[in-house]
Amino acid sequence: MLVVGIDGLRSDGLEAADTPNIDVVAANGATTMYAFAGGVQGTETEQPTLSGPGWASALTGVWTDKHSVTDNEFSGLDIEKYPHFFQRIREVDPEARLSSFVHWIPLRTLAADGDVDEVGDDRRVTDLAATELATQDPTVVFVHLDDVDAAGHSSEYSPTEPTYVAAIETVDGLIGELSAAIDGRPTRGEECWATVVVTDHGGIGNLHGGQTPEERRVPLIIGGDGVRTSVVDKGPGITVVPSTVTAYLGIEIDPEWGWEGEPFGIPPE
Ligand SMILES: [Zn+2]
Repeated sequence: MLVVGIDGLRSDGLEAADTPNIDVVAANGATTMYAFAGGVQGTETEQPTLSGPGWASALTGVWTDKHSVTDNEFSGLDIEKYPHFFQRIREVDPEARLSSFVHWIPLRTLAADGDVDEVGDDRRVTDLAATELATQDPTVVFVHLDDVDAAGHSSEYSPTEPTYVAAIETVDGLIGELSAAIDGRPTRGEECWATVVVTDHGGIGNLHGGQTPEERRVPLIIGGDGVRTSVVDKGPGITVVPSTVTAYLGIEIDPEWGWEGEPFGIPPE
């Protein structure tokens, strides 16, 4: 299973961009342009639409009332109680191969504890992840790509900003390389693969962190073998990524983990 985290991806930016590779994932699975970052407004789960709390939620399956992260230093992170979902998979399946490739180095604070833990820019992490997908037998590969967020900060998070849209199209090309690596596997025909596309927040102007719809509304996609095709108008929070991945892998979710939200796009049986 491949999980691609595209930092700072607005739903309307994705819709405006020409993204043939993400479109293939979406066409073979469940898609929403109405998932949300930033927790549930007005509750104790509400959190800044920043990368720290955002990725903490997408990778630990809980909001700030549990993971305690409110900044980009991950200060206060309750990693014992709410670890990276790789650690939950590891507990259930000690044989799992779990590989993480991240552009934004502070993400390593989450201590994925994977078999592979690499950092680099978008180009480098894509190359390393493609090699992993093509030549190893990973259970889950997580790739974090940061250039879309950088484009938003340097220009504007907007579907009408050419720099931002072009960055999304470049990332789509990288996802195409990762998909090709999966499809080129010699054993591909006997395997089940799915790809999740998730982000940590949107943006408004050249910033993010607040609770505007532009910062909160984000896309969420899972597509691949055996995923039912659907388009969902009211999407879940980004905390559903761990449950979605484990459900796809056929791993039973322990209520003790405290994860928020049901698996996205995966039939119950
Ligand atoms: Zn971010």
